[in-house]
Amino acid sequence: MNANINKIHLILELRKLGIINTDILSVFEDIPREKFIDKELSYKAYHNRALPISCNQTISQPGVVAMMTQILEPKKNYKVLEIGTGSGYQTAVLSKLFRIVYTIERYKLLFQNAKNVLEKLKVKNIVFYHGDGLKGWPAKFLFDRIIITALAKEMPKYLIDQLSDGGVMVLPLVYKSEQFITRVTKIKNNVKIKKYWRVRFVPLLPGIK
Ligand code: SAH
Repeated sequence: MNANINKIHLILELRKLGIINTDILSVFEDIPREKFIDKELSYKAYHNRALPISCNQTISQPGVVAMMTQILEPKKNYKVLEIGTGSGYQTAVLSKLFRIVYTIERYKLLFQNAKNVLEKLKVKNIVFYHGDGLKGWPAKFLFDRIIITALAKEMPKYLIDQLSDGGVMVLPLVYKSEQFITRVTKIKNNVKIKKYWRVRFVPLLPGIK
């Protein structure tokens, strides 16, 4: 089957999973996922599966990327921060839905690879940072939206601090040794938490590599 047909299947699958936001669906049609993985794996690019990338990390499952993006409720004028650039695929998705995307990756190699791929694809509205995302963005910014694409054992404090009032953070979080996609809404200085479905993510780790 060629890539286009596989892509159409994927879009149908995303719709079945409950992606009703047509802006998000068309972003998945636009972005060539095969560019973010090894050539040998490109026949799997439009399977709804996580795949290995360098540094023992993974490119997330398209279904999970789409659902997390939908829960974020993107708006063009919102400022968004992503923790865990990885392959840069989720970053590319965000770049079509937000005016500017700030993204942090702890592995130098992944940071560099993602930057190269996105430059080649002529995506210009991303600010990349090689650092520890657990410490938040290295300037005193407030973000309307934060997405974490690695598993947090506990609520990441610095990131809650960088969320604006009314801001939303979406992340995989541990509850009693299981992981769930979680939405955190900051209201005044409190947080409201909503738990979604079970997932499997690589861990959010401190420090840089
Ligand atoms: N969205 C990415 C997911 C990559 S997997 C994709 O679909 O390709 C999660 C990524 O989070 C990994 O690249 C990992 O190195 C990164 N990560 C883990 N802990 C981190 C931290 N403290 N700061 C920044 N990145 C982190």
